[in-house]
Amino acid sequence: MSGSERQRGSGLIRELIDALRALPGVGPRSAQRMTFHLLERDREGARRLAEALTAAADGVGHCRRCRALAEAELCTVCADPERDPRTLCVVETPADVVAIESAGSYRGRYFVLMGRLSPIDGIGPEEIGIDSLIERLREDGVHELILATNATVEGEATAHYVAEQARAFGVTVSRIAHGVPLGGELEYVDGGTLTHAFAGRTRLG
Ligand code: ZN
Repeated sequence: MSGSERQRGSGLIRELIDALRALPGVGPRSAQRMTFHLLERDREGARRLAEALTAAADGVGHCRRCRALAEAELCTVCADPERDPRTLCVVETPADVVAIESAGSYRGRYFVLMGRLSPIDGIGPEEIGIDSLIERLREDGVHELILATNATVEGEATAHYVAEQARAFGVTVSRIAHGVPLGGELEYVDGGTLTHAFAGRTRLG
């Protein structure tokens, strides 16, 4: 057994390598590289990372109203009285809210589905919170529902399902125009493209 193999086998180091693999896109080799970087070159950064992770894991929950990530009962968008409650934008993930907020031109509120319809994976209307969404339409006097699910097959199917459900409430339903190739995910679209996608939204039925 070589020296590095022995080291990798050590309890605390092994534990850290395994823990880092929780990050998306991080395989065993990158996890090991990160571990050795932190331990050999940046102990202070390692401690800050550990504290930030614990604080975020304990302190960040979901907004009671829109289900985006929030440190309080309501997220900053829902708590902001300047935001227009009559316009509701439906997205798949909390990261999509951040992407649209970074673009900076949307002034309404959000509803986060926390996924997309995917019968194969057992994700139906209940899993994407369709009841909570309908409650929002009823209670908040929503005039326009903007469907900003991803331009994937599942995102499109989800948009059409939500549109069908919302129609009964006399709400104008629109779908954002995607200036991205089919299959594109909102999170990775730049701010200018997102702003155009909102401006170019088309009415669904
Ligand atoms: Zn919220």
